[in-house]
Amino acid sequence: MKITYSIIAPIYNEKENLPELYRRVKEVLDSTGEPWELILVDDGCTDGSTDIIRELASNDKRVRPVIFARNFGHQVAVTAGLDYSRGDAVVIIDADLQDPPELILEMAKNWRAGYEVVFAVRAEREGESWFKLWTASLFYRIISRITDVKIPLDTGDFRLMDRKVVNVMNSMRERHRFLRGMSAWVGFKQVGVEYKRAARTAGETKYPFRKMFRLALNAITGFSYFPLQVATYIGFVSAGIAALAIPVVIYMRITGSQAFFGQATTLLAVLFLGGVQLISLGVLGEYIGRLYDEAKGRPLYIVREAPDDN
Ligand code: UDP
Ligand code: MG
Repeated sequence: MKITYSIIAPIYNEKENLPELYRRVKEVLDSTGEPWELILVDDGCTDGSTDIIRELASNDKRVRPVIFARNFGHQVAVTAGLDYSRGDAVVIIDADLQDPPELILEMAKNWRAGYEVVFAVRAEREGESWFKLWTASLFYRIISRITDVKIPLDTGDFRLMDRKVVNVMNSMRERHRFLRGMSAWVGFKQVGVEYKRAARTAGETKYPFRKMFRLALNAITGFSYFPLQVATYIGFVSAGIAALAIPVVIYMRITGSQAFFGQATTLLAVLFLGGVQLISLGVLGEYIGRLYDEAKGRPLYIVREAPDDN
């Protein structure tokens, strides 16, 4: 059967949210009168969500479970959903209902009007700490400054993509994924729709600072060489200062000035440059580690149970 809409929801311990997610997605998509599927990607749940996913799937054939062998992370879970999706339009949504399924109708309208990527822009966010809001806003602004792709500000992964776009995304098998960057990178006709981001309906965020930080690093290293070039800039600046200082110091020596006689100056210079060098090594390490991961060529994810296709 031909499917118009594929909805992908990555699930990591969302047992309280699953029934409500299914109910709302079903209500919204049934109202379109077109065939749809809901792909629930179980990203190594440990709270019993897996059983709920299986139950939903056995009651409704349009629910297709993809169950991972362990936790592979949000971006990889969504990738698996994209791989299994069959619809003409594919929507990525969070399982915690922070992204209202009702917005899918508005996205679909834009898709029908010819847009190939319709991303949701968070006009307002509820129930999140000022720290999360502040780091998120800082992150989006840094990214847009230093990367070559125009990643729209204040968007998450909540978006609708045309089949053409999904096929291109599926051919990009990079390991450290930043999907919203990738979907901006591909081009096509894109448009944003605004929405108010609600608070989580149940449970806690599955994105602690550590994971957000990794995502930010993946975004930066995946789309920019800027961190690698910083070392070059600092190198030029400090070499330039040194070159200017040499004749000054020689002159002062000849004229017998006593301006430089302490150890503090030397110590500070050594510490500062040593620090800069170590940071640069670390930056190099980030890129080399990623190269190594790519070279190993392991599968992006391991599926324990794939949907028995209907
Ligand atoms: N998620 C996942 N794997 C993970 C972490 C999160 O599949 O390792 C899912 C989670 O179940 C949710 C979505 O990714 O559906 C977004 O996570 P969350 O709501 O915790 O992020 P936040 O909205 O707080 O940024
Ligand atoms: Mg959330």
